[in-house]
Amino acid sequence: MRKPLVAGNWKMNGNLSSAVELASALKDSSLPSLVSTCDIVLFPPALYLTMVVSIINDANFSWGVQNVHFEKVGAYTGENSPAMAKDLLCAYTLVGHSERRTLFGETDNDTIQKVQALLSVNVIPVLCVGETLEERDAGQTLARVEQQIRIVLDALPDPDNLNIVIAYEPVWAIGTGRTATPDQAEEVHTSIRDILRGYSQLLSDKTRILYGGSVNMQNAAILFAQPNIDGFLAGGASLKAAEFIGICETVRQ
Ligand code: PEP
Repeated sequence: MRKPLVAGNWKMNGNLSSAVELASALKDSSLPSLVSTCDIVLFPPALYLTMVVSIINDANFSWGVQNVHFEKVGAYTGENSPAMAKDLLCAYTLVGHSERRTLFGETDNDTIQKVQALLSVNVIPVLCVGETLEERDAGQTLARVEQQIRIVLDALPDPDNLNIVIAYEPVWAIGTGRTATPDQAEEVHTSIRDILRGYSQLLSDKTRILYGGSVNMQNAAILFAQPNIDGFLAGGASLKAAEFIGICETVRQ
């Protein structure tokens, strides 16, 4: 009932020519034929988005930006607004990625406001949550993830009509080559599903919960076999066409 979703977060990598090359390789691959069974979403660097979209436009992929400001307009040098993302036909936007939280001081309160601002212009937030290694070692994983989710959902009205994606990304697995085991990931995904059910059965049933953290074409299948893993948010692997295609092919099956 939930359509799988695979997203690629290109972060601040590459240059214009590598972005064009990667977008062209994805468009000319098997991926356009997969979109009826799996949503494919690209998050290139914002400066390259227009160029990337001009290449993938016919491929039925979706796209988004990696961050927005929560204000509508104003003197916020260097920032982009949710309405600007909407102008570029972004269907999704990442919110609360751990790199935003740890490197740029993004707070839970910022994520609340960003989610609200995106929903107000009908862009689907991909809310990233996850524990640090210290929190996992201290047995605080489920509590930390629950807190990150509740603080956002408590601020939103009408859970039945909420259109959001949640990405569980253990901080210790991002860019480290360490992946959560299927059991570790499924435990957190099940807990997230239960938390959502507390707001609304419909929200719990329909919300895609992605796993992120050193996903690649080798480990995707065993993770995707877990009942509450609805797809992936890939970082490093999304920069290599063959890897990203391999992940998407796995999810289709
Ligand atoms: C990410 O940053 O969202 C991510 C999952 O990165 P990686 O796949 O490289 O761990």
